[in-house]
Amino acid sequence: MRGLLLADEPMSRHTSLRVGGPADLFAIPEDADDLQGLLRQLKERGIPWLAIGRGNNLLVRDSGIRGAVISLERFNRVEALGQGRIRAGAGAENLAVVRFAQEQGLGGIGFISGIPGTVGGAIRMNAGAYGTGIMERTESLTLLHDGNVREFGRDELEYGYRHLDLAAGDIILEALFRLDQREAEQTEEEIRKDLELRRAKHSVGFPSAGSFFKNPAGQTAWRLIDATGMRGERVGGAQVSQVHSNFLVNTGGATAGDFLELSRVVKKAVLASCGVTLEEEVRIVGEE
Ligand SMILES: Cc1cc2nc3c(=O)[nH]c(=O)nc-3n(C[C@H](O)[C@H](O)[C@H](O)COP(=O)(O)OP(=O)(O)OC[C@H]3O[C@@H](n4cnc5c(N)ncnc54)[C@H](O)[C@@H]3O)c2cc1C
Repeated sequence: MRGLLLADEPMSRHTSLRVGGPADLFAIPEDADDLQGLLRQLKERGIPWLAIGRGNNLLVRDSGIRGAVISLERFNRVEALGQGRIRAGAGAENLAVVRFAQEQGLGGIGFISGIPGTVGGAIRMNAGAYGTGIMERTESLTLLHDGNVREFGRDELEYGYRHLDLAAGDIILEALFRLDQREAEQTEEEIRKDLELRRAKHSVGFPSAGSFFKNPAGQTAWRLIDATGMRGERVGGAQVSQVHSNFLVNTGGATAGDFLELSRVVKKAVLASCGVTLEEEVRIVGEE
């Protein structure tokens, strides 16, 4: 590889929850050629892989990941294509894309400004806020699908609240956004409001992965959790945040096992008292 290849890399270094055992291999390819070369070798050796962004929505189990984790952080190019279209690499940070669009006099994706992570992670999760998901602004995706680079129009893809269906092994390389003409000052105001709101509501003081559970249809997970009296509940170093009860936080020294057990306890309590089965928004990966 021309990029970086690490062995036995602790995933706690690459996740916002700061937990997770080692990945057998941790690769940071330089570009698409490097990535394709790596995938060919992994395939030949029968080694599974997982593409990640910045790990803001990942809970990696304590036994780590058998296989390779591929970080697309170097795929961070953002370019203007004219007619309100912007192409962003999977590794570009969300706020950097919003800022780039702003410089071009374009807007309409200000809602991702404060969502920590990359375009790849945001697309995979259909990340969003204020009732909008990033797929609504996406015209097409460039995927590495079955070893080939292929462009998929949005209408060829299935997506919904916090999910996009991809085939196993698909890797998002780029996203093409279609945006609106917008004064830079208007976007500035949108960014400012979003970041301010997040500072007020999401400053939980400890590492987290944002909302741990999805909001069930027509309900909010934090209200359901609050109704069970689970705010502040602890398992080891993992705790239901005192500030935002849908944030599970690492108060120090937590293990992935602590988070999994706390999640189980919260889900059981919500089911028992509200009759609702919460579903994790956080992606749980790694060896059981
Ligand atoms: C404080 C805080 C606040 C948050 N607020 C929000 C919010 O308001 N709204 C929201 O939606 N989310 C929120 N999140 C969750 C998180 O920021 C988003 O899910 C974000 O999109 C994850 O991006 P990432 O680059 O870190 O992806 P990762 O966590 O690295 O990956 C997420 C998923 O995408 C997959 N993936 C990543 N890149 C690729 C790729 N190139 N190809 C294929 N698959 C890929 C991974 O395998 C994983 O399944 C918040 C998190 C935190 C810590």
